[in-house]
Amino acid sequence: MKLLENKTAIITGATRGIGKGIAEFFAKQGANVAFTYNSSVDAANALEKELNSYGVKAKGYQSNAANFDAAQELAKNVLEEFGSIDILVNNAGITKDNLLMRISEEDFDKVIEINLKSVFNLTKAVIRPMMKQRKGSIINMSSVVGVKGNAGQTNYAASKAGILGFTKSVALELGSRNIRCNAIAPGFIETEMTASLPEDTVKGWRDAIPLKRGGSPEDIANACVFLASDMSAYITGQTLNVDGGMLT
Ligand code: NAP
Repeated sequence: MKLLENKTAIITGATRGIGKGIAEFFAKQGANVAFTYNSSVDAANALEKELNSYGVKAKGYQSNAANFDAAQELAKNVLEEFGSIDILVNNAGITKDNLLMRISEEDFDKVIEINLKSVFNLTKAVIRPMMKQRKGSIINMSSVVGVKGNAGQTNYAASKAGILGFTKSVALELGSRNIRCNAIAPGFIETEMTASLPEDTVKGWRDAIPLKRGGSPEDIANACVFLASDMSAYITGQTLNVDGGMLT
């Protein structure tokens, strides 16, 4: 039996990297997938075709996660076109790294808006239908950096730590409605976001990880399938570290 049969998922930021991996694994587990992106139209069209080939309904929406009204519009459209919203994965995120001395106000605000406010926007947009269904699973993509902090990433760390507080509060507020909300804290996952790092930095990171490798989008996608499915029906308000043991 497929773990996500008859469920509809919204996944933000799925044209590449971790979000794409989640969309593929969800579709393979039988979920219908509505995914978003910011600007990569061609990648979105290709992903839509790929997901459809797994025999599920799939559609990409160009929707800026940082925009409150766009999130409302997205949820309305998905509900009309798919009939329900059972799972939300708040995955869209960016980095604008710099030392605090050099970071601009604009780069601080942008990271908070796209990484943290987006989680508020999308969650608020889906809780009404989830409350009506008396069921839902929300998964928020935090980071090891949100748990631990990181020099040169004050904006990113603040956004990802903010997600953890938001996640626990939603779990407390909506548990009685059978809506679960959990966070995943990926460690060092090798995607385009990390591809720009110098090779010796990357090697140093790999060597310091107990499992001796960077993670893959699939490693994160597997954890998302678990938290999205009824296998995790009694788990809410948690942060799952998927980091090869980095925080151990
Ligand atoms: P990525 O490869 O850079 O992909 C980011 C995705 O988000 C793209 O599909 C992008 O769409 C979309 N996106 C960006 N801004 C958006 C917006 N305003 N509205 C909607 N979609 C937007 O990133 P990734 O490495 O897969 O990371 C995914 C998530 O995991 C992020 O939240 C990141 O912080 C978190 N994370 C990553 C790592 C890591 O090591 N990679 C570690 C911990 C946590 P376009 O293509 O259209 O721009």
